[in-house]
Amino acid sequence: MQMVDFGFRNELIKEEFSLNYCYQCGTCSSTCPVAYITNGEYNPRKIIEQSLLGFKDLLLKDQKPNVWLCCTCQMCVEECPQNVFLTEIFERIKNRIVLLGEPYPETYKLQAKSVLENGLAIPLTQPIIRRRDQLRLPVVESANVEEITKLLDATNFKTKIKLLEASK
Ligand code: SF4
Ligand code: SF4
Repeated sequence: MQMVDFGFRNELIKEEFSLNYCYQCGTCSSTCPVAYITNGEYNPRKIIEQSLLGFKDLLLKDQKPNVWLCCTCQMCVEECPQNVFLTEIFERIKNRIVLLGEPYPETYKLQAKSVLENGLAIPLTQPIIRRRDQLRLPVVESANVEEITKLLDATNFKTKIKLLEASK
């Protein structure tokens, strides 16, 4: 049985105060494309409810609903009548999952590795550059990898995300 953990709830509210404004109308879930294609198995309203109740184990260990399924499209944030910044709250939950060493999708490790090596989560390949050009999209500036590496080293990034495992 899940116990209400006011400490955990207050931590999340302190980091993203808009969590406090949710009145559980369900608009977020009804506009969410991931909720739609998973027949409601993924449910942003429920994640917010569990955050308000401080259901730490359900969110961080069981991951039910699985917060990693959010594709950060921001539809819910745009439609929420209470201006709850759901995706910010989800980021806080994801950060805690990683720091606790609980499982998270391998693809995030690979993207982190790519940021370290290329300064971009998705490296620019010739087909991507060509397609962007065809669509008249602006040129993507490459980042300064040296500066990024310094910043990430200063925050102990590689250890936090257990990046070394991803390169095995
Ligand atoms: S739309 Fe906003 S107020 Fe409604 S349940 Fe979702 S987060 Fe809460
Ligand atoms: S940001 Fe995430 S939770 Fe919100 S609508 Fe998009 S997929 Fe759903």
